[in-house]
Amino acid sequence: MTQPQQPVALVWFRNDLRLSDNPALTAAIESGARILPIYILDEALGGAARWWLHHSLADLAASFDARGARLVLRRGDAMEIIPSLVEEHGVGSVYWNRVYDASGIERDTALKSALRETGIAVQSFNGSLLREPWELKTKAGTPYGVFTPFWKSSLALPEPSLPLLAPEYIEGIAEVSGDHLEHWELRPQSPEWAVQWPQFWSPGEGGARTRALHLLENGLAQYSEMRDRPDVEGTSRLSAHLRFGDVSPRQLWHWTLDQIRRDDGRGESGGWAFLREIAWRDFNHNLLFHNPALATRNVKRQFDVFPWRCGAEADRDFAAWCQGQTGYPLVDAGMRELWQTGFMHNRVRMVTASFLVKHLRIDWRRGEAWFRDTLVDACPANNSANWQWVAGCGADAAPYFRIFNPIAQARKFDPDGVYIRRWVPEIGGLPTTYLAAPWEAPSLALTGAGITSGKTYPAPIVDHVEARNEALVAYRSLSNETLEGAA
Ligand SMILES: Cc1cc2nc3c(=O)[nH]c(=O)nc-3n(C[C@H](O)[C@H](O)[C@H](O)COP(=O)(O)OP(=O)(O)OC[C@H]3O[C@@H](n4cnc5c(N)ncnc54)[C@H](O)[C@@H]3O)c2cc1C
Repeated sequence: MTQPQQPVALVWFRNDLRLSDNPALTAAIESGARILPIYILDEALGGAARWWLHHSLADLAASFDARGARLVLRRGDAMEIIPSLVEEHGVGSVYWNRVYDASGIERDTALKSALRETGIAVQSFNGSLLREPWELKTKAGTPYGVFTPFWKSSLALPEPSLPLLAPEYIEGIAEVSGDHLEHWELRPQSPEWAVQWPQFWSPGEGGARTRALHLLENGLAQYSEMRDRPDVEGTSRLSAHLRFGDVSPRQLWHWTLDQIRRDDGRGESGGWAFLREIAWRDFNHNLLFHNPALATRNVKRQFDVFPWRCGAEADRDFAAWCQGQTGYPLVDAGMRELWQTGFMHNRVRMVTASFLVKHLRIDWRRGEAWFRDTLVDACPANNSANWQWVAGCGADAAPYFRIFNPIAQARKFDPDGVYIRRWVPEIGGLPTTYLAAPWEAPSLALTGAGITSGKTYPAPIVDHVEARNEALVAYRSLSNETLEGAA
């Protein structure tokens, strides 16, 4: 029974939209307080991520309703909203799980001290990573800039703690005013590009569990071989669930180890390959934490003078890339998958990103911004770090002179053309041999497939060999000193 003097704890949700394995929520409940759960809109999110957020929040709000509390939605400055809720509702303590981007850290630090100055207890937790960025250091005491030693040193630490169970009952507080989710209009309106997405995605905690279970029970044994194949469902598709915290990496860690044990080792190599990817996510957060300007500034500063193309022609090529109209079927398939589903397979992300920065020599920041707006999993750490990796200017990056060949990549990773035919149906009638490079097809095959080059499907906007050579010339134009630093 509620005691009138029972304290109130405010729990601020951010990238942790779940009830299970939520250390901030669990600690608040265990303190014996009534709970005031709140979410403040992150205005910086891109369009696709806002769609995901809408559904994830709806799911979280329903979970709170079912347990006796109500999630409060607010819009505005957390530095004002939280202190005023504290005052209005007699809140004695505030809990949250940490974020790792520079502006979030700055805001949280300022809020923590402002609240503590007024006698409010504040506690923050790790709810989003296996290891926090300050837990792993090289022998020299510096942050890791290379993944493999980071991973090794992560494995040498004690196992991540066991995931926490979701509370069965949550004692809320009486009516607190808040916004209606619908009024935030988070789903894209014009154009309504996300109407088909419910057939691809089920944001929220239940959807994340279903996806995880599907991978663990059906795909773990093949994960290592299949994870690079965009034509099959060989990966978990959990990235947006992880981005918004529908599921925690700790849960995935322990569920995977459990599955490896249950499979009598059959899923062992796949299971560890999957956990390694989860650790890449940690590594990228570690990079973001130690390089606050990761989305805008080359980690290898030598690239600051790289001669990126700009002007009307570059703008035209950028538009062709965004629209999946480059004339390179694997690139176009990826860009169309992205637009139509809010997702793109990892292998194809690497190929499309490489095409933009190397074949088209367009600044990686333009590609990063497009992905940020169109990916449901768009994440400040993973998006920026991966773009810098592809561009060659990041920590532990693929060297700039290693240039993905979009034709060879298609033949290797989409051998039967299933992926290309799904997303570029206008060339689907071509024999598989020509699917990766339709311009190589004899006119008989083109006519047979109903293709008129440049009309039904664009001619390639650049020649692969020429573009590759020009990219290498541009790279070599950086001074020798610069190249030595970048290699
Ligand atoms: C240019 C570019 C941009 C990217 N932008 C993002 C982004 O904004 N958000 C994002 O979550 N991922 C991003 N990635 C990484 C990767 O493509 C996706 O995480 C992956 O495709 C998600 O599919 P999945 O969940 O089926 O992956 P799985 O293979 O099932 O992997 C499991 C999880 O591991 C993590 N992971 C997998 N690959 C990577 C990787 N290369 N780097 C970091 N973490 C990884 C993800 O959280 C993923 O959900 C990007 C990659 C590239 C090349």
